[in-house]
Amino acid sequence: MSGDNNKHSNSSNPEIPGYVGFANLPNQVHRKSVKKGFEFTLMVVGETGLGKSTLVNSLFLTDLHPERVIPSASERIKQTVRIEPSTVEIEERGVKLRLTVVDTPGFGDAIDNTDCFKSIIQYIDEQFERFLRDESGLNRRNILDSRVHCCFYFVSPFGHGLKPLDIQFMKMLHNKVNIVPVIAKADILMKKELSRLKKRVLDEIEENGIKIYQLPDCDSDEDEDYKEQVKQLKQTIPFAVCGANTLIEVRGRKVRGRQYPWGVVEVENPDHCDFVKLRTMLITHMQDLQEVTGDVHYENYRSERLAKGTVSAANSRNNAVASHVQSTDDKSEKDKILQEKEAELQRMQKMLAQMHAQLKQQP
Ligand code: GDP
Repeated sequence: MSGDNNKHSNSSNPEIPGYVGFANLPNQVHRKSVKKGFEFTLMVVGETGLGKSTLVNSLFLTDLHPERVIPSASERIKQTVRIEPSTVEIEERGVKLRLTVVDTPGFGDAIDNTDCFKSIIQYIDEQFERFLRDESGLNRRNILDSRVHCCFYFVSPFGHGLKPLDIQFMKMLHNKVNIVPVIAKADILMKKELSRLKKRVLDEIEENGIKIYQLPDCDSDEDEDYKEQVKQLKQTIPFAVCGANTLIEVRGRKVRGRQYPWGVVEVENPDHCDFVKLRTMLITHMQDLQEVTGDVHYENYRSERLAKGTVSAANSRNNAVASHVQSTDDKSEKDKILQEKEAELQRMQKMLAQMHAQLKQQP
């Protein structure tokens, strides 16, 4: 996978194929963020070969890994987990999305997976740490948010549910990132097999106390179509997807699909797989995924760091504030800084209270 920034521009017409749909994001957020563009980081976790890269490329209609060499089985076993973030800027109707996809190849292949668990967790923590440091710095308004907002966890379609490895790893991840479970290569399963596998995966998630990302409940004044959409999305979890990078002609239309002797599995056909639903979930809940990351996962990390009393970043900020205060005789400047700190403390207290409330609600 190349770490280069690729630019990709989409047409603005929602009717034509190849339209992702994030141009509607402005409805969700403040105008300022629209001008700046959206920053979103998606992590994909799962065994090599489950179709992670193909799915991500299909989702964002762009090849994130143009020069990737697929390693042989023996290479994969030796391979340690390489964390490979790559960023693309996609533009739709003047709205920019800066999407970082963090691929974690090699996961699950090695006999001992301790190292790959560690490096994935470490990657997530490093982004929190960076944010904490930047947030504690003086230029807080222009922070680049590289925190992982969502993690597609790929479950193999070849098994009968979650593997012990999946359970172990999801438990390590669930307090750090929004997990969205995905059943890979859904096209190889019959409808019946698929619904059995979905149920099994959901049951195992519950039995093992794994916390996956919960779509927020709709407000009562929300419009009916939206309520219905959210209801359907909730019922679809775990999303059974299939990806493809090739365009095939079906009844005079070019579609993304996989050709089989008996026909074509169309990626974007809701009757064939949950690809469109997964994309809709991601796009319509991008802001919520960001908020949960900030308000729950990041605050978890931050309060742990504060509790440990080793917040070097916070200390350095205090030092910076102290020296700033010392070097200026301007009382109003001093008051402003104190007010800012006060407001920040209040914000933290509010978030902690929210977290407590959320924790209480969880079974
Ligand atoms: P990754 O290692 O998880 O990133 O997997 P890749 O995206 O490189 O895909 C591995 C292989 O599986 C490739 O040969 C793909 O063509 C194939 N593949 C990817 N997605 C699907 C899918 O949805 N269904 C099927 N049947 N094969 C797929």
